Amino acid sequence: MIGIGFAEFFSLSLIILLCYIACLWFREYRRIRRNEWQLSNRRLFHCNTCHLSFVPKEPVSLCRCPRCNTVCILRRGSTLPGAQEGREK
Ligand SMILES: [Zn+2]
Repeated sequence: MIGIGFAEFFSLSLIILLCYIACLWFREYRRIRRNEWQLSNRRLFHCNTCHLSFVPKEPVSLCRCPRCNTVCILRRGSTLPGAQEGREK
């Protein structure tokens, strides 16, 4: 059997503990990356009447605001989040 001293045992324990912490950190980092929000600007509607931003359940270009029931139009090619227009019915 290999005899090790206290300093070697302490160093080995410290290295194993640091490897364990690094593995846990990497696992948590991957979990957070996997579950983070993936929202594209093309699906985000912005109501100009009540200023509510929402994402409809299915990809449509015309839907009603869930708060004020105003028809909101998603315009293609617009880059600004407030560029979608809401109209009163
Ligand atoms: Zn609204």
